[in-house]
Amino acid sequence: MTDKNMLEQVLKTEPISPAVLAANLAAGTLVVVKNRLHRIAPLAIGTGVRTKINANIGTSPEACDLSVEMDKLKICVQYGAHTVMDLSTGGNLDGIRKTILLESPLPVGTVPIYQVMVDRQRKQQPPLDMTADELFDAIEKHCADGVDFVTVHCGVTRRIVEILDRKQRLIDVVSRGGSYLVKWMREQQQENPLFEQYDRLLSIAKKYDVALSLGDGLRPGCLADATDHAQVEELYTLGGLVDRARTAGVAVIVEGPGHVPLDQVVANVSLQKRVCHGAPFYVLGPLVTDISIGYDHIAGAIGGAVAAAAGADFLCYVTPAEHLRLPTLEDVREGVVASKIAAHAADIAKGLAGARAQDDEISRMKKEFNWERIFDLCVDPVKARQYRKSVPVNDQKHCSMCGEFCAMRESKGRQRLQ
Ligand code: SF4
Repeated sequence: MTDKNMLEQVLKTEPISPAVLAANLAAGTLVVVKNRLHRIAPLAIGTGVRTKINANIGTSPEACDLSVEMDKLKICVQYGAHTVMDLSTGGNLDGIRKTILLESPLPVGTVPIYQVMVDRQRKQQPPLDMTADELFDAIEKHCADGVDFVTVHCGVTRRIVEILDRKQRLIDVVSRGGSYLVKWMREQQQENPLFEQYDRLLSIAKKYDVALSLGDGLRPGCLADATDHAQVEELYTLGGLVDRARTAGVAVIVEGPGHVPLDQVVANVSLQKRVCHGAPFYVLGPLVTDISIGYDHIAGAIGGAVAAAAGADFLCYVTPAEHLRLPTLEDVREGVVASKIAAHAADIAKGLAGARAQDDEISRMKKEFNWERIFDLCVDPVKARQYRKSVPVNDQKHCSMCGEFCAMRESKGRQRLQ
């Protein structure tokens, strides 16, 4: 439920009129994310508001230190992430989630099926004997703890697994939750409980005002698999589930790829918007090349900027550590900054009111050589200050790039042609 107070809070931070906000909310092209139990400011995601970015944090079995994850949360907040997702799979999952929820001023998302997978492994239970009740209990536990949105792979159906089995992919399934469900369905010869008992999921989400992030369990894991039959079929399934969520009064967003060649990014956004009836689109990157190992935040930012300019609403960050290790603090900072740049560039392209004001102001300050203001206005003041300091110059009115041949200074003093 989105009450008047929440809408007023959204209006204070977004360049949208009350009428447009109400209309987009009613149409479902914009959702407000906030669990009724979580004491945070509500966040609007969708048409007419700024492009949002998510940063994934959380432990793994090999790297499990809550204090490090809390430092990552601080970096996410400092550098302007709009949400965080706790993807922990190592340590005390309940304790980590509750601590992040308590400390985070940002909406928090989770993938509850990870908890089922981890709990089964710890209890030495056969992983593929999961029951539907176990899965829904985990979802309800996360919602009752105050999680604001949950990724649920409802569109991974038996029909789509059949398509997957018939058509060879270069890389099979790369979503952790998606691949688990595919294996479970193959083993149990049953339908995905999240699809079969979708109404049960909707009633849990409605009880806590939790937004559903319909996961793309069959997202492509490489350019060769992008926009294939299985991915598109899953998207069509999600489109139907969007309708049912809206009818039930549950906020819903749709997740998207993944790895997508640059020339297919806009088509993926257009298709999602068409098939999912304008539901907010949450893209994971997308990475526009597979060779950028160690620099995947750059590949993700290129894809994210193009996707968001074409209408994607929510970018999941990618860090330089993607495919290599659990991100460090520095990886998180670089990932957030890269996504911020992508989202900001897209907001300018989208023509959002006031989106370019900061750019114009920083340009004026460059002309004035007002370095302190430049640092304050830029996306990463810490790095900008460090860089300027690292090669000192004896004159404020240039930097060590061109020295006394500073074009900015020269053009400032130049007489105009009569
Ligand atoms: S010295 Fe060169 S790079 Fe530095 S501010 Fe002047 S024009 Fe720009």
